[in-house]
Amino acid sequence: MNLAATEELARLGHLYPAVILHGQTAEARQSAALRLARILLCEAAPEERPCGSCKHCSRIVWPSTKSDAFHPDFRVLERDLKTSTSVAATKAFLQGAQVAPFEARGQVFVLGSAESLTGEAANALLKTLEEPHTSAPRNFLLLSPSQFDLLATVRSRSLAVFLGVAEADFSDEMEDLAESFAVCVRGFLSSGSTLNLLAGAEVLGRVGSWKDPRDTVAWSQAAAVVRRSCDLVESGGRRGLLGLAEDLLGGWQSRVRGIQAQRILEGMVVKRLAPLAPRDER
Ligand SMILES: [Zn+2]
Repeated sequence: MNLAATEELARLGHLYPAVILHGQTAEARQSAALRLARILLCEAAPEERPCGSCKHCSRIVWPSTKSDAFHPDFRVLERDLKTSTSVAATKAFLQGAQVAPFEARGQVFVLGSAESLTGEAANALLKTLEEPHTSAPRNFLLLSPSQFDLLATVRSRSLAVFLGVAEADFSDEMEDLAESFAVCVRGFLSSGSTLNLLAGAEVLGRVGSWKDPRDTVAWSQAAAVVRRSCDLVESGGRRGLLGLAEDLLGGWQSRVRGIQAQRILEGMVVKRLAPLAPRDER
């Protein structure tokens, strides 16, 4: 699920009670959480949310010493930098979910560093998710670098929204791989030879570590390389490449079913790019 689709669910009032916002930088995760919270609590017409100026939107800000803006129905639990988020702090925070909203039609609770939750704190969160809420909707936004930093039991009860690879993580090596991958794609677009596609899949296999089947990092790096290569390939290949990048983000799902990473890469590349073969070669 991407952020735009998630925002649309929030506008329609159909958002999952628990949403994991993962990937990108901490700042990007925070701004995504603020935007979702404003959409959820904004008093403008659904299609105009977030309006950015109503009494709810204007007071939903990330807690900081610089501003005293505060909304009683928008709560943030930030990480205690010295320890993992303590059970006591999490439980106290979750108690806020036992009461009806003060001003808005619902409540939004943000765990700013959900990856730091201890097992016991995560279980307290699960228990809250299982309890029927009061008459008003309440949403939990769990911010984490990777969804796999959270317990499987929490993941299975949440909608995971991947925000993309942080620009800072786009290394020189990935830049080189994007160029090599683009060479393979251009070769295929002119020759129609599947060998070019297999060579492209081999290039993607060099992005990172594929050792841990549950790890999503290499998949998102491969997706970022493919997206970057779009700029280096003629426009006819663009649509297939964007589709491929989207597929790659979900590659880990086949991986945990026991399929080798390289086979998955080859399958995905061929599926999305083979239809782009030059017609006179078929
Ligand atoms: Zn508003």
